[in-house]
Amino acid sequence: MTILILGSGGREHTFAWKIAQSPLCETLYVAPGNSGTAQIATNIEIKVTDFKAIKDLVISKKIDMVVVGPEDPLVLGIHDYFLNDDDLKHVSVIGPQKAAAELEGSKEFAKEFLYRHNIPTAAYKSFNKNNVEEGYKFLETLNPPYVLKADGLAAGKGVLILNDLNEAKSELKNMLINAKFGEASTKVVIEEFLDGIELSCFVLTDGKNYKILPTAKDYKRIGEGDTGLNTGGMGAVSPVPFATDEFLTKIEERIVKPTIIGLQKDNLPYKGFVFIGLIKVGNDPKVIEYNVRMGDPETEVVLPRLKNDLVEIFQAISNQTLDKINIEIDQRAATTVMLVSGGYPEAYEKGKEIKGIDSIKDSIPFHAGAVLKDGKVITSGGRVMAITSYGNTYQEAIKKSYQNIEKLHFDKMNYRKDIGFDL
Ligand code: ATP
Repeated sequence: MTILILGSGGREHTFAWKIAQSPLCETLYVAPGNSGTAQIATNIEIKVTDFKAIKDLVISKKIDMVVVGPEDPLVLGIHDYFLNDDDLKHVSVIGPQKAAAELEGSKEFAKEFLYRHNIPTAAYKSFNKNNVEEGYKFLETLNPPYVLKADGLAAGKGVLILNDLNEAKSELKNMLINAKFGEASTKVVIEEFLDGIELSCFVLTDGKNYKILPTAKDYKRIGEGDTGLNTGGMGAVSPVPFATDEFLTKIEERIVKPTIIGLQKDNLPYKGFVFIGLIKVGNDPKVIEYNVRMGDPETEVVLPRLKNDLVEIFQAISNQTLDKINIEIDQRAATTVMLVSGGYPEAYEKGKEIKGIDSIKDSIPFHAGAVLKDGKVITSGGRVMAITSYGNTYQEAIKKSYQNIEKLHFDKMNYRKDIGFDL
């Protein structure tokens, strides 16, 4: 088969690494890709939202399957674009159709879905510029901290958690009246604050059947002890030690099953990954968010633990025969630590040469914001490289990642030194 992966992060390098191991994959393209994917596939300089350019590529390279990494093309309807085009409809697309991608594209849509299907989540109300006053009144009924969420996609920045009521009111006004997050904050979801520890659950579905992948926990803040600004993710651990079998059963019965049944009831066509952001409140899981694709850096710890042939799984998703697949998981733990450019998530410099990659032993360097230039690997983004390791325990895995990071260097390299230390 000829396969195309869309995206350019550590997630997509991990997909490429896993897909390249499959005997079913003859030729692999990544658009636009990075320095990591360049070593195992052919990178094509195309934007993931340029559907016409993707169509031309798919036709000219006779591509059989498209694996969509990031959310933007899914929310914009890439799957529907393929289904509605006679020249493309034979191609398997891994990722939900536009109607289902709204689970990530609109937080109000996701909350309505959760409520409609009785899936545990925080209480909420949503507001627009015509009922800001009601929004203020609703805030007055809640206890701090106040959770304000821009309805649309805001690159992970659209959620504000505020301790002060007046500040919460003024931010609500900023979002609804002053378009703080542009189009994304035309509507705002205000929800009850849930106090607990977060984890993510990953589900594969073909629209009828589902399979659960290992859980993972990511580390969102830039600073040690989970302090400072939010980032795309600074590291991850899989499995999550506090997710006991009993807790996992609750997740499956109360959340995964009703989600898959809900998709069918609501006629939301879904062939791909469902990423469920959860919070453990007391001993019960509640849903914080749905994402309609894999997480990054969670992919860098979840896929390395999957023993199956990923292309075979994708074929089963495409043919709606996922029930025939027996998911096999490596019992070892996997951890990853993200190396970032100094200054990230605020302003940072690019174009720094990354040295020492060849001396890494016993860890896998998944490239993210890095590109090849004149035979050298240089930084091109905030999150640069995820160093993944296996271990009999997550402590052993994390030790390996940190040992290998010692061998790597680029100017102003930064990373969190406490991934997994809270578990
Ligand atoms: P991401 O960057 O993961 O896509 P997002 O911007 O889509 O995030 P959410 O995941 O809904 O938004 O929220 C971001 C973070 O805010 C969560 O990971 C969680 O830490 C916190 N959060 C969101 N909702 C709540 C809540 N109801 N109670 C407590 N914390 C919350």
